[in-house]
Amino acid sequence: MLRQFELVEKIKSYDPNADEDAINRAYVYAMKMHGAQKRASGDPYFSHPIEVAGILTRFKLDTSSIITALLHDTIEDTTATLAEIEDLFGSEVARLVDGVTKLTRIQLQSVQTKQAENFRKLVLAMSEDIRVLLVKLADRVHNMRTLHYVRNPDKRQRIARETMEIYAPLAERIGMHEIKNDLEDLAFAELHPDAWDSLVTRLKFLRDLGGSLIGRVIEQLRETLIRADINAICSGREKTPYSIWCKMRRKDVGFEQLSDIMAFRVIVTSVEDCYRALGAVHGKYPMVPGRFKDYISTPKPNGYRSLHTGIIGPERHRIEMQIRTQEMHEIDELGVAAHWKYKQGAKNVDGRQYRWVRELLEILEHTEPEEFLEHTKLEMFQDQVFCFTPKGTLIGLPSGATPVDFAYAVHTVIGDTCVGAKVNGRMIPLRTLLQNGDQVEIVTSKAQTPSPEWERFVVTGKARARIRRFIRTQTRAQYLGLGRAILQRTFRQEGYEYTEKGLDGVIKKFKAPTVEDLCSMVGQGLLTGREVVTAVYPGLKMGRLGKIVSIATHRHKPKSKEWVPIRGLIAGMAVHYAGCCHPLPGDRIVGIVITGKGVAVHTIDCSTLEQYSTQTDRWLDLSWGEDLDDIAHVGRITLVVTNEPGTLGTLSTVIAKNQGNITNLKITNRTTNFFDILIDVEVQDVKHLTNIIAALRASPAISSVERAHK
Ligand code: MN
Repeated sequence: MLRQFELVEKIKSYDPNADEDAINRAYVYAMKMHGAQKRASGDPYFSHPIEVAGILTRFKLDTSSIITALLHDTIEDTTATLAEIEDLFGSEVARLVDGVTKLTRIQLQSVQTKQAENFRKLVLAMSEDIRVLLVKLADRVHNMRTLHYVRNPDKRQRIARETMEIYAPLAERIGMHEIKNDLEDLAFAELHPDAWDSLVTRLKFLRDLGGSLIGRVIEQLRETLIRADINAICSGREKTPYSIWCKMRRKDVGFEQLSDIMAFRVIVTSVEDCYRALGAVHGKYPMVPGRFKDYISTPKPNGYRSLHTGIIGPERHRIEMQIRTQEMHEIDELGVAAHWKYKQGAKNVDGRQYRWVRELLEILEHTEPEEFLEHTKLEMFQDQVFCFTPKGTLIGLPSGATPVDFAYAVHTVIGDTCVGAKVNGRMIPLRTLLQNGDQVEIVTSKAQTPSPEWERFVVTGKARARIRRFIRTQTRAQYLGLGRAILQRTFRQEGYEYTEKGLDGVIKKFKAPTVEDLCSMVGQGLLTGREVVTAVYPGLKMGRLGKIVSIATHRHKPKSKEWVPIRGLIAGMAVHYAGCCHPLPGDRIVGIVITGKGVAVHTIDCSTLEQYSTQTDRWLDLSWGEDLDDIAHVGRITLVVTNEPGTLGTLSTVIAKNQGNITNLKITNRTTNFFDILIDVEVQDVKHLTNIIAALRASPAISSVERAHK
């Protein structure tokens, strides 16, 4: 286990200004908090955060990252709180520790590969600061190194798969190859123990057979380069078992045929020397066609630079070679951290983020060519939110997304029929914003259709497009139905028979492409029925206004949600009860057709009707149907009650005793002695409401009660 002073020494070696005091305090605090806890290996738990901090010193990370590593398991596994950590170590560390803790809490639920990419994005989105991800990766490296101590084989498998699918690719994406290779090999050993065993055995056999083959190749390379007057460091290594295994699978070759299991590296001092070294090597050894790649003039999207070549090397072994400068080398090995180090000359503090975080964003932006249509910046991931379906599939949405967006993302039909949503097991309103990692279950009903209301809060294009299309289709059908009804009625009023054929002759006159368009122009109020009739029958004498004929008797099927117990409506038209007069069964009613909104039902004595007195086209003669028993209607009453304790209680008791259900109660005026109150109450019909009003009048605390009329 790394000792306190050793850790501090490591950090000081690359950052002389590191806050030694804070690191020491974090060391002691973590040791105290983890106390006697033990790892699966039997080691004190505290050895783990120390090792994680140690791994991060390899990448020369700043003091806050090191302290975060020391504290990274305290919130989840000890009595430490975020508030306490903020108190002791400041808000930056607290924010980083909180980030790592959140990452620890999410777990890969499904291991389908297509899900893995979303999961990686979820991790990126949750690592608001890239240092959170770096600490998490180092944590994973140490956990993988000690994985064999974990006794439960299922748990070992799960962790190894998660490492292979999520964390190794993430390490690669941010250019941390050393970590990526470590993670892959450790996971490979767990996931394919037999393959791993035989590869390791075979590598050992070849090593024994060839003796110091690597050493001899290095020696000859070095000589070649010295002769060309190039100052270089040469090194060679066996490839990792996992990378050999991948190659075997990819090329479908057996281990015996696999010759290039060695890779050599030449590190020189300048870009110019890279090309000179390449020339010297190619001059001496035959090159393998198709293996040369110049990533110096054309760097890889993640910023990687090197020359690659394959040669038939000394002793006729086929070998692979990379030629690069020291800077290119460090960036390759250490990823963004090294990037940062080299760019530090240009001062690095930008608000609360470091320059290299921005560098990273730029790197990430170019990493995934297959997704270039999407924005792949890390910032972009933070504009996204990732939620699970009940089966564990991850759905990525823009941030600000609601359950309706989620429903449409799962399937159009689910979106169209969505009536409610459970998030993490609790029913929530459809307009609720989803959070990263939420599990969302959509409740659907076949009777539901998209609500125009939804358009105000959805954020995805798909949801918005579907809702708009639905509304458009519905509105068009409404205009058409309404226009037709108006025309039919006007024709009849004038004593003519209505036929669509009869309209054919006049569509040109009104610049309508089809008869249907003409009808819908009338429905929209662009034309009056009378104008059309006059066009068809030019000799028509104007007169006979105002007689309203009931034109259709439409009864929706009972039980359907839209069923309205009213006769005289036009099929397919939206109906609502006017808020001014709150008509109830038993009232005499009339319908007013309102462009784009369907029919408003008013009581016949409602004062609102005056404004329509000249537009008789718009009036529908309505009457209540039968089968009203099970439907509640909202009646509105106004009261003046004394301002005394208990008055409101009395009031609601009286209403409840009379089977009324209060749906809305508003105090409209308040004086020292009296309240003016407005109450909406669900009742069966006028008689029911009258009974309630009578009962209320009998109560001494209530000085007056009236049914509300505008
Ligand atoms: Mn940990």
